[in-house]
Amino acid sequence: MINTTKESLFITLALCTTVCCAQRELTYLLQEKQVQLHQVEHYLKEREMQPLDCHEEWTTEVSQKLTNPTVHYRDVQRVFNVYFHVLNENNGQRTVPIDEADILSAVANLNGAFNAYNIFFKYRGYGEINDTYRSVVYLGGTRTFDELVTYAKTEGLYQENSLNIFIAATIRMSQYDTREIAGLANKPGVNVVVNDKYLLSSTLTHEVGHNFFLHHTHANWNSGNCELAHYNDGVEDTPPSVPFNTTDIAGDCHSYLGNLSNDQCGIAIRDIPASNFMSSYNLPCRDLAHAVFTEGQANRMHTAIEAYPDVFEPVKTTLASLYQPYTGNYTAEATETIKFQKGFDYEFVSCSDNSAVKQRFGKEETPVGHPYNTAVKILQVSATTTMNCRTAPTDSFQGGEVISYGVLLNGMYKVKKLNALDIASQRYLQELPTGYNRITITYKNGQRESELCFKQNK
Ligand SMILES: [Zn+2]
Repeated sequence: MINTTKESLFITLALCTTVCCAQRELTYLLQEKQVQLHQVEHYLKEREMQPLDCHEEWTTEVSQKLTNPTVHYRDVQRVFNVYFHVLNENNGQRTVPIDEADILSAVANLNGAFNAYNIFFKYRGYGEINDTYRSVVYLGGTRTFDELVTYAKTEGLYQENSLNIFIAATIRMSQYDTREIAGLANKPGVNVVVNDKYLLSSTLTHEVGHNFFLHHTHANWNSGNCELAHYNDGVEDTPPSVPFNTTDIAGDCHSYLGNLSNDQCGIAIRDIPASNFMSSYNLPCRDLAHAVFTEGQANRMHTAIEAYPDVFEPVKTTLASLYQPYTGNYTAEATETIKFQKGFDYEFVSCSDNSAVKQRFGKEETPVGHPYNTAVKILQVSATTTMNCRTAPTDSFQGGEVISYGVLLNGMYKVKKLNALDIASQRYLQELPTGYNRITITYKNGQRESELCFKQNK
């Protein structure tokens, strides 16, 4: 017996040392920019490393009002403001570099995970907290997450109208227990802290899932109370589960291979929803490319959002806000300062014809600038809705021309040059000759629009 105890103690220590060393090496590679934040999941997967996991307190109460969701996710679209706090050392430095591009990628990842379930995120900026003491968060004892949130509120840094996401240098069990945690979240709530290495992993989506009152898919598995064990996570379409490591899962991402000692409630644990965002973190099943929520989880999130208006109403915003740039000024000369957050499929369409696409951007692209006379379409929100039409101000015209062909397009033609005043007055439109006319307008910003129209004989 003594030998066995010693052996298992040794294995536990060895395992922890391996995990700790591997995490330290990852931090070093991120610091040296040999690995980018968005490559972290790939890095861990390639080396078959067990990623750090989230810590959720066991659920001891059944939240009956959420057991049978009353809201279907298809029925309503909701948009939430999201704001980030980067926790630095006193001198403003940090080991793992984080810039605004990383933060915008994090918002894009959230939208990528939640949009299919009618939850959207509007980026509202980020701030930096230069305080070495605050940059490390402990689960218990001192320097807790609650303390950090209180500190941000006291300092006037907290954003009452947004989800507040803190990016920490590390999150540990306690002052004395150096085991690291990937992220923590209030549940229900609007605050998340994420271990910086895991900013662009599925961890952030997982934590925001907690905000919207999702439990782990293995919630209550060892509660000792069979009613709770059967209640599981309170979501009907997630099978009962247990916590597990990557090595406990078959390649199909749902067959459980581990040793289950807890089946006293008659629950057969064979299928594990390993690709679910709320499962134990394992790769490759729960990486950003594969992880999903279920429809039941989506309904539960929307039901929770309605059930806790005090928590969620202050951080909601409008769908229209998504169609506005996150930075830049429409009145400024340099319109290239206008940028839209990436993560959506955008179309800039003619203000007068929403099927005439002038520019298109994919989810990985950041739309820069907003062409005159176009409105914005976001395909994740709607295939038809357009908003934020940008008309051209009269002082934006450079010049243009009308090429008149008459009634035969391939015949002779004559060219009339237009100056900025001609275009602003629109008088040339009344003076168009009968037949085909190609009207071209150029703007001071370099934008050029050309249109062929047919003028009927009066
Ligand atoms: Zn969790």
